[in-house]
Amino acid sequence: MEFALTKEQALIQKAAREYADKFIEPIWKQIDEENKVPDEILKGLGELDLFGIPFPEEYGGAGAGYVSYVLVMEQLAAASSGIAMIVSAHTLGLGAISRFGNEEQKKKYMLKACKGEHIASFAFTEPGTGSDPKQITTTAVKDGDSYLINGTKRFISNANFPGPAVIFANESESGKITAFIVDKSSAGYTVSEPWDKNGMHGGPLVDVYMKNVRIPAENILGEIGMGYSILQVGISFGKVGMSSTALGGILAARNEAVKYAKEKTHRDLPIARFQSVQLLIADIAAKYEACKWLTYRLGYQADHFKDPRQFAKDAALTKTFVSESLVDAARQAMAVHGSYGLMRDYKIERIWRDCIIGPQIEGVSDMQKVIVANVTLNS
Ligand SMILES: Cc1cc2nc3c(=O)[nH]c(=O)nc-3n(C[C@H](O)[C@H](O)[C@H](O)COP(=O)(O)OP(=O)(O)OC[C@H]3O[C@@H](n4cnc5c(N)ncnc54)[C@H](O)[C@@H]3O)c2cc1C
Repeated sequence: MEFALTKEQALIQKAAREYADKFIEPIWKQIDEENKVPDEILKGLGELDLFGIPFPEEYGGAGAGYVSYVLVMEQLAAASSGIAMIVSAHTLGLGAISRFGNEEQKKKYMLKACKGEHIASFAFTEPGTGSDPKQITTTAVKDGDSYLINGTKRFISNANFPGPAVIFANESESGKITAFIVDKSSAGYTVSEPWDKNGMHGGPLVDVYMKNVRIPAENILGEIGMGYSILQVGISFGKVGMSSTALGGILAARNEAVKYAKEKTHRDLPIARFQSVQLLIADIAAKYEACKWLTYRLGYQADHFKDPRQFAKDAALTKTFVSESLVDAARQAMAVHGSYGLMRDYKIERIWRDCIIGPQIEGVSDMQKVIVANVTLNS
């Protein structure tokens, strides 16, 4: 068993931390208030290859694997979970193309996306379903050499950026769920105003309306009827992004609690001397360590797993444990801050709004526990 980072992993972690400290930390409040990530930040992330970390170099990626991806995401999320949300959803969408796409599709859609010139999406959820693929109503009707796609997708991250979207629809001839690559600049593809969500500001969330969006039949991802498998595998990899985003939140909560405990004084001495505050800090520190190793391990498993069922279980387990731990850690860091933590001037106020999102998305925590229980009981 080896707990040390490789030289390459340590370098990429350092590069992400330095970028976050220098360019994101100074504007986290601006991103939160304006609910927008400045274009130059996205450009900077692209220049550092952070939009293509785990993907092969021949398709424009950094070829650095999912452990490096986890290390980068942790640092980005600690500074701004909205930025982490953009990279996470992008890597989820692009990961499906990388894993299931053919040579032409990968060349066509990955090169620009790995450089951040295009930002990918992964669109499953609809107004009528977030957890049950069988209830998908979006249709893809064969029309000569192409498909006409009609339907509404709800709560889709990054859907307003140019680039490819992996869209799940019922294929007309088979009646089966199939994944399609849709260019977000296609005629008939429009999006709503952004949802006014409570946290993770800067990460855009819109509904997608598709009205007779015509796409060539060669844009089927994988094969007709493979949609459910692509969804399951894709979402398992997506949970690597969500887990590391939550881990970054715990790191930020820990840092904010420590900083405040040393700065705030009672009777001229820092509140860090109170045992009640020390107990909170110790609890947050323990959560961070446990979640760190669980998430780093998931990154390793994403690169090396042999059994997809076990990987799906470990992804569900990690995402649930780490995102629920963030909610607890944020509550404890809030307690260290007293009433000041409720004020927008303090970063913990933002972390508190951000933290509840992880357990609610990419499969709510209860559904993750069902996956964990099923695999555990039947292994
Ligand atoms: C910030 C954010 C980003 C998102 N990004 C994307 C994206 O990029 N792409 C995308 O496709 N979606 C995205 N979503 C949507 C999100 O993944 C779904 O909303 C989420 O999976 C939950 O679905 P739901 O809201 O329909 O909840 P439901 O499925 O309606 O669940 C509600 C409750 O019912 C319970 N429940 C549901 N079904 C069952 C069952 N069979 N058995 C027992 N209990 C059940 C659940 O446990 C839960 O407690 C995003 C959402 C947010 C907030």
